[in-house]
Amino acid sequence: MSERIQAVRGMNDVLPEQAQWWEKFEDCVRDWLHAYSYKTIRMPVLERTELFVRAIGEVTDIVEKEMYTFVDEMNGESLTLRPEGTASCVRAAIEHNLLYAGPQRLCYMGPMFRHERPQKGRYRQFHQVGVEALGYAGPDIDAEHMVMCARLWRTLGISDVTLELNTLGDSEARKRFRVRLVEYFSGHEAALDADSKRRLQTNPLRILDSKNPQMQTLIADAPRLLDDIDDASMQHFEGVQALLKAANVAFTLNNRLVRGLDYYNRTVFEWVTASLGAQGTVCAGGRYDGLVEQIGGKAAPACGFAMGVERLLELMQHAQRAEPRAADVYVVHQGAAAARYAFSVAEALRNDDLAVGLDCSGASFKSQMKKADGSGARFAVIIGDDEAAAQQLTVKPLRGNGEQTRCALAQAVDLIRGK
Ligand code: ATP
Ligand code: MG
Repeated sequence: MSERIQAVRGMNDVLPEQAQWWEKFEDCVRDWLHAYSYKTIRMPVLERTELFVRAIGEVTDIVEKEMYTFVDEMNGESLTLRPEGTASCVRAAIEHNLLYAGPQRLCYMGPMFRHERPQKGRYRQFHQVGVEALGYAGPDIDAEHMVMCARLWRTLGISDVTLELNTLGDSEARKRFRVRLVEYFSGHEAALDADSKRRLQTNPLRILDSKNPQMQTLIADAPRLLDDIDDASMQHFEGVQALLKAANVAFTLNNRLVRGLDYYNRTVFEWVTASLGAQGTVCAGGRYDGLVEQIGGKAAPACGFAMGVERLLELMQHAQRAEPRAADVYVVHQGAAAARYAFSVAEALRNDDLAVGLDCSGASFKSQMKKADGSGARFAVIIGDDEAAAQQLTVKPLRGNGEQTRCALAQAVDLIRGK
């Protein structure tokens, strides 16, 4: 035997038992996005590195240390596996002139890649569902995003999440705040951890986002962004809050919420849970009015959010019992003629919209029947050479103690359907 080849660290297989949850989740998400009139867009997984550097920001965690970047040896171009979807989505909208036809509500789901330390809820390949509303300026769309999340949590049976909300104001507000922050943290330089010292020079707002317990008192006493917010942003923020209240979506104002990507302005929000340990943010987003222009499009306001599928699945599994999705019928057979007939019977049953598992093990009849019992199917269809010669089959209920019946295909379908 040769040496085994294993998956790359932090990149997970989703095995069939787990995949049932993924499919259930994806079904709910598709219906939910449709209910809010979001249209699907699919972008490539690989983009030019420059896109993320420009969109996310040079001195963010993602761009500084989390991207899978390599040089395409064919042409020397620097390429990156997408670490998030917003930049790609906006790039695609610009490239295909989607905004020419007016504002766009777009959505996507798929894998993202970040070179982080793998741990529970934090992987190197993970999945996001992303929603982007491009070309909308009003507070109604910000509120729509949070209200729609609240609806999805209800559908998924998730109740242990809360909404945190903040406004970052316009870029001038952030500049003013930045000056005050640098002044404050510089006065306490001895108390800063290594990460924060580095950020003081590059991205001081991110110090507020530090998870280090030793930094929390210092952070709690830092200047407040709220004092720098411009009037127009404040008005917008009040509009968002009024709509949330009217929709009965509870939120907490958290003026320490700054988000790790540079493109945000005005509204930012996170849905957080205490049930997942350190990786408590399941969904995050906000407004990014400058991004479309920054990536080379005609200026357009926009906002959006992305949720972490793995973390939500974990919550969903806390809330719901597994309901395995079994086939309706398991077909067992014995004999050469029976094998051929069984193959065509399985197809015929599927023509009638039944889900069918055909035994292809070549095992003994007894062991095939055991498989049928363990499969979760409601009925076994049994075919021997006898049945094959008569073009009939035997239907045996696998739950309860119903009688088995030998009949033609059409009657078998009625029987299985409970007619
Ligand atoms: P965190 O603070 O947990 O690193 P983030 O601010 O980097 O999150 P975003 O870029 O806002 O995350 O991505 C949106 C969501 O995607 C997160 O709230 C989280 O649920 C999920 N997510 C982000 N990074 C990972 C990861 N490495 N593994 C699993 N899920 C992730
Ligand atoms: Mg991160």
